[in-house]
Amino acid sequence: MQKFILHLDMNSYFASVEQQANPLYRHKPLGVCAYLSPRGCIIASSKEAKKIGIKTGTNVAEAKKLYPNIILLENEPAKYRSTTTKIFSILSDYTDRLEPYSIDEAFLDLTGHIKTYEQGEKLILEIKQRITKEVGDWLTCSAGLSWTRFLAKFASDICRADSHLVLDSKISMLEKFNQVEMTEAWGIGKNIERRLNQLEIYNLIELKNYPVANLMQAFGKPGYFLWANANGIEIEGVRTQQEIIPKSIGHSYCVPKQEPDLQYIKAILMKLCEKTGRRLRQNNLEAKKIYTGYSLKYGGGFFKSKKISEPLYTTEDIFNNAWKIISQHPPQQKIKMIAISVSSLGPISDQLNMFTNNVHKNISQALDKINQKFGEHTVYSGKMWGLEMQAKDRIGFRKTVDINLKEDEIKYL
Ligand SMILES: [Mg+2]
Repeated sequence: MQKFILHLDMNSYFASVEQQANPLYRHKPLGVCAYLSPRGCIIASSKEAKKIGIKTGTNVAEAKKLYPNIILLENEPAKYRSTTTKIFSILSDYTDRLEPYSIDEAFLDLTGHIKTYEQGEKLILEIKQRITKEVGDWLTCSAGLSWTRFLAKFASDICRADSHLVLDSKISMLEKFNQVEMTEAWGIGKNIERRLNQLEIYNLIELKNYPVANLMQAFGKPGYFLWANANGIEIEGVRTQQEIIPKSIGHSYCVPKQEPDLQYIKAILMKLCEKTGRRLRQNNLEAKKIYTGYSLKYGGGFFKSKKISEPLYTTEDIFNNAWKIISQHPPQQKIKMIAISVSSLGPISDQLNMFTNNVHKNISQALDKINQKFGEHTVYSGKMWGLEMQAKDRIGFRKTVDINLKEDEIKYL
């Protein structure tokens, strides 16, 4: 069946929502900030602010220098989230295969719901109209329609604000590939561009025509993704929220040394938390519930779950919470298995987090990257130094078991 994928991206989203809420802010340069101190930065600027060079990342002091009368507001995530809910609810009228990609972007798989690109174009106009009518007349979006998820996003990324672009054939795809810089394509940042240049690939057409085997040699699996995207070949398609988010993420480990030695248990738990944390972060998720415990060699054990008010994301947070639970009920007899899992998973609260006091999150992500590239245990948090060394010595790490089970099932492992 002919595939139709639509990507929709709200324009200057947070700023537009603020201008929607207060008509006095409209037609004026406005910036939504992480916080309002001089070094706080703008996380979304209105289209009027963009015109005078005030972009995402500009700090408050610089923005005031560029335009002293700029309206600066502190962000209100709840406001943006509730607007997003209204928009996504409209989108869900058109397909049950809807992928919320970020707070202001979504993919819709319209396959089977429309038969031609002309119908798709009509539908885009209808959706845009409904958003202005039912959510707010100041809210505009860009839309891209094509036959793969990558091309749909590529199309909406390269078209102007409040417009749409349909790539309905390889011919129209190649025409656009010819017109834009490689870095405008989704997934090709400065870094990848530099590496592609080393292979003498300087534009999307050259990428498309490059032998896939050579790309894979240079990039590994991502080399195939780059090539497939540029050739209009679908990789993953639209994934609904349920498909993206697992119920829980966790690991368990049957211990070779069964004495109830607390330092040893701590070391293993840390290892399990690290694995769990890394999977959580790879999936861009955070968790609001933790479940951990141990089973005993001669039956019984201790398991407890706990709701966490501040969502879990870093290995350190997961470990601290898990250790608190276990250390309050230390085993008195030989142990058999230790398990940890996190659940009540959701996407990282909002993009705002990336800009606010998020040192820990950023560090976690950086550590993950290094460990992924150079192998586990290349770097880790200093607090875990001693533990890490113990765990490293004693555990065959591949032996840990992924668990994606409901809480009560873990007990019987
Ligand atoms: Mg946007």
